[in-house]
Amino acid sequence: MRERGTRRILWIALGCLGCLGLAAGSVLWRRYGYWLTYHLTPPPPLPDLPTAAPYTPWPTPTVAEAFDYPLLPADAYAPYVPGVSGPLPVDTRYGFQNPAMGNNSNCFRDAAGDPVPFGQLYHAGVDLFAVDDRGQTIWGAATHVPVHAVADGVVLYTLDAGSDGEIVIVEHLLPDESAIFSVYWHVDYVQVRRGQPVTRGQVIAVVMDKGPNSHLHWEMRTFEDGADLFPAGSAGAPGCNGHVAGVGYTWDDDSTRAHPEVYGYLDPVAFVETHQ
Ligand SMILES: [Zn+2]
Repeated sequence: MRERGTRRILWIALGCLGCLGLAAGSVLWRRYGYWLTYHLTPPPPLPDLPTAAPYTPWPTPTVAEAFDYPLLPADAYAPYVPGVSGPLPVDTRYGFQNPAMGNNSNCFRDAAGDPVPFGQLYHAGVDLFAVDDRGQTIWGAATHVPVHAVADGVVLYTLDAGSDGEIVIVEHLLPDESAIFSVYWHVDYVQVRRGQPVTRGQVIAVVMDKGPNSHLHWEMRTFEDGADLFPAGSAGAPGCNGHVAGVGYTWDDDSTRAHPEVYGYLDPVAFVETHQ
């Protein structure tokens, strides 16, 4: 009899331990499960990256006869337009402001030396996100898609802007002997070097993995470096990326001079449409 009683107590004790274990496990899972899930999910795969083309430092650029979009097919990528691409109050088209983006900024300072709120800055390029066939943004689907040179040209810069990804700038010679520059930001796995000639459509990098926010910031502009566009010593001089002057945004105390067009940036989409 006594032995049976002892066994019963043992079983009850074991049962209690099991319950405690289950409870502790569920608390741990609720707390750290996301971490495990996140780290066990593989990142989106990289596309096949081509070997860089043969390279002669600083050749004379060939004349760029035609331009194309950096992400292909072109209709699978578009800027975020509030009320069109989705419900967020954000606009990533060329020349638009984003009041919804908040007040934090160290990019530009006004005449009094105070930081200009980020929501007042003018977007100097276009941010291309993946979209579905109804034009709705598919968050994160642009991750690791190949970035193509928009025309024949020579690579001027490849610069690492840290957590914002790398920046590639390509110079293109136009038939009238003027030059135009294409800028690609938030990219990764850059395939080209400074001084390397590229051809239209050549894969030069991929879109950086920024999670749902993966997108290409793309500019077409008439100047190489924005160092002389923004007063030296102002927060605008190193650019909003903190590295290259003139990549990202524009601003001016005088609102008639604040739009990127004033500084020599062109609407990238309109430019390609008229130079295809
Ligand atoms: Zn942008």
